[in-house]
Amino acid sequence: MNKILVIGANGQLGTELVLALRNKFGQMNVIASDITKPEHHDDDSLFEILDVKDKKRLEEIIKDHEINQIYLLAALLSGNAEKRPDFAWELNMQGLFNVLDIAKEDNNIQVYWPSSIGVFGPSTPKENTPQNTIMDPNTVYGISKLAGERWCEYYHSRYGVDVRSLRYPGLIGYKSLPGGGTTDYAVDIFYKALQGDHFECFLAENTALPMMYIEDAVNATIQIMEAPAAQVKVRSSYNLAAFSFSPKEIFEVIKSRIPGLTISYEPDFRQAIADSWPSSIDDSEARTDWGWVPDYNLEAMVDEMLVHLKLKLVHH
Ligand code: NAD
Repeated sequence: MNKILVIGANGQLGTELVLALRNKFGQMNVIASDITKPEHHDDDSLFEILDVKDKKRLEEIIKDHEINQIYLLAALLSGNAEKRPDFAWELNMQGLFNVLDIAKEDNNIQVYWPSSIGVFGPSTPKENTPQNTIMDPNTVYGISKLAGERWCEYYHSRYGVDVRSLRYPGLIGYKSLPGGGTTDYAVDIFYKALQGDHFECFLAENTALPMMYIEDAVNATIQIMEAPAAQVKVRSSYNLAAFSFSPKEIFEVIKSRIPGLTISYEPDFRQAIADSWPSSIDDSEARTDWGWVPDYNLEAMVDEMLVHLKLKLVHH
């Protein structure tokens, strides 16, 4: 029986992952944690305040709830990390070491930790980026994710820690707002479209990036954690892909549904980050090793987002 702890549960991914894990494993078997309480929460016994940098508190929670599976989502994302490089490094690395060190002492604890397409850099081949290739990230976020990947592989091969990881592309979902990444525009544009506002994009019109509907990311995450250990051959982090688009391309798909939408482009500091990332990803190893297949393409994602956000905006 899995007893699960999600760290950084109030964020864009955590909000959705906690719901999916509770559906699958039962309400009582999933403990959510974050540095502050979430806006809506109904059961105090299923939520813990936790700063992942505090290893003692983390150990207490694991012991109290007899946790055997940890999803470590707490991190400073790419855009925000550039504003606070020292703090981003401290949070992204210390959080991971605290979790890996606990799992090293107790090999019954399985760990999930997400990486990102941010591990790639300007010298990485941009199209269909392979699993193993040149990696020269030039953001503090990318450096922390690449270092994290190397440590995950090290803890697996040296200490037998069952840690699993995916390199997410930009994630798009409606349940919560994104947390300061370079692909946030692809969520913001839906709010502007539905509110009848003009959309000013912080990336240039032809900057194509790999993206994914969040439901696919959640499914991939649970799928890799459920896969038999022998099938998880990559213990740094798997490339993972669904579709790619540029601001202009997503604008055109949304505009075909909401004709009044207008857009202009005012690239800011995030343009340089986007320019250093791949435009598409080769995820054939995830497909071969544990059967990854995404359900959503760009059009299906747009339709799903519009349906759900319309309802959400009406109810607010
Ligand atoms: P987010 O910023 O929306 O959420 C992160 C959560 O961590 C927040 O709720 C925050 O309060 C919490 N947190 C911050 N500091 C903490 C601390 N010291 N202790 C405990 N919790 C803390 O991020 P997200 O989009 O949900 O991303 C989750 C993970 O997925 C991150 O590791 C991120 O790097 C990775 N990822 C996300 C994307 C994306 O597009 N969203 C893409 C690639 C990788």
